[in-house]
Amino acid sequence: MSKYVPDILSRRWVIVAPSRLSRPDHISAKSKKQSLCPFCPGNEHVSPGEVFRIGKGEKDQKGWVVRVIPNKYPITDYHEVIIHSPHEDKDIEHLSASHVESILKAYRERFNYYRKKGQVLIFCNHGEGSGASIHHPHSQLVVIPSQINLDTLTREPLNNIVEDNTFFYTYCPDFSQWPYEIWIAPKKEGAHFGDLTDKQIVDLSTLLKKTVRQLETIYEKNRFANMSFGYNYYIYPHSNWYLRIIPRFVHRAGFELGTGLNVNIVDPTTAAMEYKGMEMRMVNVLDKLKKKSSYF
Ligand SMILES: [Zn+2]
Repeated sequence: MSKYVPDILSRRWVIVAPSRLSRPDHISAKSKKQSLCPFCPGNEHVSPGEVFRIGKGEKDQKGWVVRVIPNKYPITDYHEVIIHSPHEDKDIEHLSASHVESILKAYRERFNYYRKKGQVLIFCNHGEGSGASIHHPHSQLVVIPSQINLDTLTREPLNNIVEDNTFFYTYCPDFSQWPYEIWIAPKKEGAHFGDLTDKQIVDLSTLLKKTVRQLETIYEKNRFANMSFGYNYYIYPHSNWYLRIIPRFVHRAGFELGTGLNVNIVDPTTAAMEYKGMEMRMVNVLDKLKKKSSYF
């Protein structure tokens, strides 16, 4: 069982959850090939009984498109795993937009199922540096009691806009704590994630897929030292929601841990330009300027 321990002065909490120690480590190269993937179709019997699916087939049998199961190693009383697709090696950036819609519909369904029980946080860990312990792409949902104070940011002001469509913006907030951090937020302020309409989900899935794909391109161009491609995202559980994508291209070290100050090595203005694919044009302009100046 997990327990919540407060720090009275800062109103912050820690969750002590020793049962997490026994989690499998599928992601390390050694064990990946040897062990059975509990999230692959055909292995449904390995995981705890399914609570929701999108797609065809009987409960705990093949045929699903998106599958939701309880987490075997829960952090909180309600802790679920949303398996993105039957594909082991395809995540949001490579799945079809309509498939991403199905993932978001599963999010909405489970969010609304729990929203009266506490603070519902949906998050995704992608890649080795992000905290994922199973390679097969998935997200998680946890319900945290309402009395527990969360340290989550409220929605940041809109600046460095990358793109927009009918219902959403993507942008790199001035207060970005991580290189290439990017947020997706509804144009209409004050909304709850669980109240998304089907039309809005179409718009959101387009932007989410595109943004993560762009992030992968940025990663491939820059090849951050010794880091494999990884990111986290989470959906703000309260009113005025947003989805925050945090690329894991750098490690946090003693300075950040000791001060609580994060050092962001990429200016959010530059990050926004790179997402827009403008950096090459910038380089060309700079090259031309350099050539001109060499005449003097
Ligand atoms: Zn798998």
